[in-house]
Amino acid sequence: MEDSLRHKGMRRQLIEELKAKGIKSAAILDAFDATPRHFFLDLAFINQAYSNTAFQIGAGQTISHPYTVAFQTELLDIKKGTKVLEIGTGSGFQTSILCALGAKVVSIERQRELFQKASRIIKALGHNPKLFFGDGYKGRIAYAPYERVLVTCGAPFVPEALLEQLVVGGILVIPIGEGDKQIMTKITKVSATEYEQQTYGDFSFVPMLERTAK
Ligand code: SAH
Repeated sequence: MEDSLRHKGMRRQLIEELKAKGIKSAAILDAFDATPRHFFLDLAFINQAYSNTAFQIGAGQTISHPYTVAFQTELLDIKKGTKVLEIGTGSGFQTSILCALGAKVVSIERQRELFQKASRIIKALGHNPKLFFGDGYKGRIAYAPYERVLVTCGAPFVPEALLEQLVVGGILVIPIGEGDKQIMTKITKVSATEYEQQTYGDFSFVPMLERTAK
């Protein structure tokens, strides 16, 4: 797939929109500039790749709004080398943004078709995260602990395994709620048994489902 001047121009415009909506981190805006979102969409949607909307990516799932990706990434406060577990690889766009920021990423997806498609695109962009087909409710103990955990689907509750696999001082960003709306929540693990929680308003995600899809 080609990254034309036109796509780059549209990306610039999206970045201005993200800034206007309050995204401040220069590193995150640079990561958006370096990540061609149209690579992650089906051909039918390519011309709208840089509008601030969600799109179908197959298996009934959607790629998150650019603003949502930027907002969650800002809450995560990623530095070069930060170890991140992402639940819900989906299109792989958010995964690629984390990689562009220099994070060491482990990402899990429960839909095989999406896992395979995202794996191809992420590698084509030159990133090298560890990608797994599996159930995010369990986290990935083999690579734990994580400094950050990011859930990109609407969770009915906070999965215990994700809290356990977080380092003390680590941050879990998770949209919590069933139905159409979730409350964006940031949970900081302040000790082995204590957590602090802050909320950031309503967002809308596809649901976090149990087990891998058939
Ligand atoms: N970060 C993605 C967002 C995709 S939507 C992107 O940038 O495109 C959320 C994804 O979470 C969907 O692909 C869905 O299949 C996946 N998902 C839902 N429940 C899950 C679970 N228990 N484990 C892993 N992935 C899950």
